[in-house]
This record gives sequence, C-alpha cells and structure tokens, in this order.
Amino acid sequence: MPTFPTLAERYKDPNPYPHGVAWQDGQYIPVSEAKISVLDYGFLHSDATYDTVHVWDGAFFRLDDHINRFEENVRRLHMTVPFKTAEIRDILHGCVVLSGHRKSYVEMVCTRGAAPDFSRDPRACTNRFLAFAVPYGSVANAEQMRRGLKLTIVDTKRIPPDSVNPHIKNYHWLDLVMGLYSAYEQGGESALLLDHNGNVTEGPGFNLFTVHDGCVSTPQKGVLPGITRRSVMEICDSLDLKVVETDISVASLLKADEVFATSTAGGVMPVTSLNDQPVGNGEVGPVTSSIHHTYWDWHTDTRFIDPVAYPS
Ligand code: PLP
Repeated sequence: MPTFPTLAERYKDPNPYPHGVAWQDGQYIPVSEAKISVLDYGFLHSDATYDTVHVWDGAFFRLDDHINRFEENVRRLHMTVPFKTAEIRDILHGCVVLSGHRKSYVEMVCTRGAAPDFSRDPRACTNRFLAFAVPYGSVANAEQMRRGLKLTIVDTKRIPPDSVNPHIKNYHWLDLVMGLYSAYEQGGESALLLDHNGNVTEGPGFNLFTVHDGCVSTPQKGVLPGITRRSVMEICDSLDLKVVETDISVASLLKADEVFATSTAGGVMPVTSLNDQPVGNGEVGPVTSSIHHTYWDWHTDTRFIDPVAYPS
C-alpha cells in the first residue's frame, strides 16, 4: 500500500521559528504563536510601520531613538498605538528578559489592522501593535564582515521618495527583494539600488557610506535615515572625520577608497567589491575599521545603552 503524508506532514514548515518571545494583545507568547489576521491590511497592503533595535551583550543600543522614530512614523501614517513611550520600552524589555537572549533583534510593529466590514477605508481599521525578540541576525555573515561584502549595483530602482516616504520604515520590500535576486544572478552577495537620477540610495536593510580622501559621504535623500547611519555621523564628528550627506553618483561610488554599509542588523559592514571590481585596494580600509571599532565601543557607553534586567 502506498503511504501518503498526512496533511500535518505535508504542510510542516521546513523553517522552524527561532527561539523568541512576542508580545501581543496584552500577553507574552512564544514568537511561533504570534499571529496577525489575513484580513489585516498590514498583511494585505503592506500598510504598516515597524522599527528594529538590537540588544548587544545584554543591553539595548539607542532604544529611545528607535522608539521615537517608530512613534513618529506611526503618527505619519495616521495610526495610533495605545501605549506611552515608557510602556513600549517595558514591553520590549519584557520580550528580551523572557527570551533570555543577550544578543537580540527586537522588532516593534504597528499594522493598519482590519476594518469591521472589510471596507477599504483605512480610517475604519483598528490598528494593531505587536513586538518580538529573536536571536540577533546580521546583513553580513562572519566571513563577509572579515573580508567585506560584495555588492552589485542593480537595475531595479528604489521606490521614489515622493511615492513612499523612505523615512517611514516600511515593508514595501519588493524593489529590494527583486534587487537581491538580480544581485545574486550577477554573483553579488547583496544589492545596491539607485534612484531615478542614477544616484546611490540604499540596499536591503542597510544604508551606504563612501570614503574619498578621508571624507565620508552618505546619500542625502531617498533613504531611511538609519539609526546606525546617525551613529556613524556622530562617530565621524568624534573622530574628527569630515562627513557629508550628499548625492553620490555611480562614477563617484566606483572611485571611492572605501565603502561600507550600516544597519542595526550588522552595524558597520565593510564593502570591498562593487560589480565584481575591488573597492580601493580590495581590502577593508582604515576609516571603515576605525568607525566599526568605535561603533562597537559605544555599546558600553552609558549615553547609548539601556541594560536588560535579566533574572539572576
Ligand atoms: N535602509 C533600509 C531600507 C532598512 O530597512 C534599514 C534597516 O532595516 C536601514 C536602512 C538601516 O537602518 P538602521 O540603521 O536604523 O537599522
């Protein structure tokens, strides 16, 4: 007799959830049990905003900056979260404490929610808030951190800022995801997207910086103003490095001595190859290195950290 897999076996998720804890509807639950409705416009229309903060060695890094950005974006989207800043902070701390993670990737999310009669009027929806903490993850893996990422400048253009405001951290990732496929096809490890004027914007989950003769530059528009980007600009000031927000053309990018990417998921990540050509001498450069080290040093600086009170 042939045997057939049971429905449960057939639909078993081959990618089990990482260990983590979510907060939803007033309670903490395993992240694998956190759910949103299929009728939530956060799912159906990507009508949502979110923020991601990390915990490193048992302390949040720039937690208030992330919550402030999140609250600002919730307001911009005409949404409401029924919690004060301090309550959001407590919820995020709770997720991390219960997960036990000392290095964690922590996300707060607000979705448009569903409308009672499935109307398309966003004003009729009840907005939904949830949060979760899972193990820390990075855009660049250990090997890529050591020798630098290989990026491909792809043809897919970043969604223009007058269509979707990139300051609002969002899940409109199809340009970034299609960019990734295009990069993989051309031998890259991640993608770099341009705007419609041919200037550099950003990549899937990261901002970009160039270094020319010791001067650090980052795109001035069409990008999420990343919190890591802000850290890097402050670090440049503290290291007496000139830093500017400006348009960066492909020609200028390809002449850079050093290039690096920045993200809460990975920090300051060297880029040593663009379109299969070495950046500068193809090695991780000294400016990138010193910014990288200062960034991680700042993770013990009481100006920026918020320690998690794990049970002893
Ligand atoms: N740009 C995009 C599109 C992102 O999604 C992210 C982070 O997820 C970043 C830039 C980097 O932002 P941050 O440094 O705040 O993590």
